[in-house]
Amino acid sequence: MPFSLIPDRLYGRYTELTPQALDRLGVQLLLCDLDYTLAPRRMERPDDALRGWIGQCREAGVTVIILSNNRSSRRVETFCGDLGIRYVGHAGKPGTRGFRQAMEQAGETPEHTAMVGDKLLTDVLGAKRSGVLALMVEPLGGPVGAWNHVLHTLQRPFKWIAKRRLL
Ligand SMILES: [Mg+2]
Repeated sequence: MPFSLIPDRLYGRYTELTPQALDRLGVQLLLCDLDYTLAPRRMERPDDALRGWIGQCREAGVTVIILSNNRSSRRVETFCGDLGIRYVGHAGKPGTRGFRQAMEQAGETPEHTAMVGDKLLTDVLGAKRSGVLALMVEPLGGPVGAWNHVLHTLQRPFKWIAKRRLL
């Protein structure tokens, strides 16, 4: 099983993943982390930007499934209910079970699947272990709390390597 913490692509935020960008990457199934990736932690319902982006993906034929380690399944349920998309809760990232489950649900292979998230040790590592493209975004709303600040500082060298590779 591959072990890598180097994301395949870096983005500022999820809205940069336009249908055109996803098409260029050959992505038909996009697995999304929720907290700090699609929504700041304090945001309780999807905003217009997120609704619009989900609509664009849907029109382009890209399936979006939320893959969240969030301990509160209510938060994930609320978001996905509002957006009309599926989710795998308690996904256990970086374990591969949630990734496999989502790909089975969507009937997609790893070759056409990507994971987008803000954390290396869960989102990127899980994507790498599952053989799907690892897309990384900056934490939406900025890191909150001391632990997240430390974590995002520790992530910097890996992002730097990814940037160099992409030059
Ligand atoms: Mg996150």
